[in-house]
Amino acid sequence: MSAKPLSPGSTIGILGGGQLGRMTALAAARLGYRCIVFAPEADSVAAQVSAGHVRGAYDDAAALARFAGQVDVITYEFENVPEAAVAECQRHRPVRPGVRPIHVAQHRLREKEFFRGLGIGTADYQPIASDADVAAATALPGVLKTCTEGYDGKGQARVASRAELAAAWERLGRRECILEALVDFRCEISAIVARGLDGTTRAFPIGINDHRDGILRTTTVPADLPAATLATAERFGLELARGLELVGLVALEMFVTRDGRVLANEMAPRPHNSGHWTIDACATSQFEQLVRAVCGLPLGPVEVTAASRMENLIGDEAAGWARYLADPTARLHLYGKGEARPGRKMGHVTYVLPSAAGRRSTT
Ligand code: AMP
Repeated sequence: MSAKPLSPGSTIGILGGGQLGRMTALAAARLGYRCIVFAPEADSVAAQVSAGHVRGAYDDAAALARFAGQVDVITYEFENVPEAAVAECQRHRPVRPGVRPIHVAQHRLREKEFFRGLGIGTADYQPIASDADVAAATALPGVLKTCTEGYDGKGQARVASRAELAAAWERLGRRECILEALVDFRCEISAIVARGLDGTTRAFPIGINDHRDGILRTTTVPADLPAATLATAERFGLELARGLELVGLVALEMFVTRDGRVLANEMAPRPHNSGHWTIDACATSQFEQLVRAVCGLPLGPVEVTAASRMENLIGDEAAGWARYLADPTARLHLYGKGEARPGRKMGHVTYVLPSAAGRRSTT
């Protein structure tokens, strides 16, 4: 892999057409890069703000080659992009973060084993792939999750006993699953870490995340947690980025237990919803950091410029846009999606509180 930076004016290809691609394209444009999106849907919200859109299925090798031929480097904005599509792209152009991070992230059991191999703490877990596994299960009460294709709380069930586990596994279609011990957590947090082409790593400040119905609702930064907890979480994020040898971004979601332990839940090798606050309240946004990393540029500074709380606008909540615009502390981001279906992320708003520097000077 050449370590030569791609200068502004170059073109970044983005696999995936959602809001993460959209915000990446906006950040890329600010630095003078063009983006071309590969997405199957006709109306991609990332393509709306990009220089081009190659419309095709992820298993259409000819379309992927046509896409790759128009760009200088390729990244992806969702971790369930088929591994074969990434491998196909990689035959033509560098793909950053590459195949390995999605190979690990697409399978919950593999992911947990990878964490453990790097010394990153996790809840107890065990594979559930047979009736014998169900009969021998001990990580109870627990959360049963399909190994693949689960997100935002889909494909999972809480179970208190082996009988409930057996019934839940049946309902999930007897698919390959992981049973994770239920964590009695104080809060959920995430670390977002960038790793550059030269191996430099930089971690954004940790955010505290609040979920409802399995979907992220808010992220608050700075996180009001003991320094040692934050240091452990950051170390786990950095270990992960180095362990994956990725060039790009990785987000690591973790639990903080009531007795102060930090346990990794899952990762995503891409910009993350819990990092949206960085657009309005950090020296460099996560999207710009991704652009910098994949283009081989130096990583940007990650100081918090203001305390903030990001709130997702889900379903028809985005219809309240006029209210957010009228609030001087609110920074509104709408994703350009047509239909406000329940559970659909339509936008977010970041409340920027009086600046951290300003508050310090008054104390
Ligand atoms: P996931 O799809 O793994 O991100 O899970 C969605 C949400 O379910 C998490 O953000 C937690 O709020 C909750 N959850 C997942 N796994 C566990 C667990 N082992 N213990 C307690 N809560 C969990």
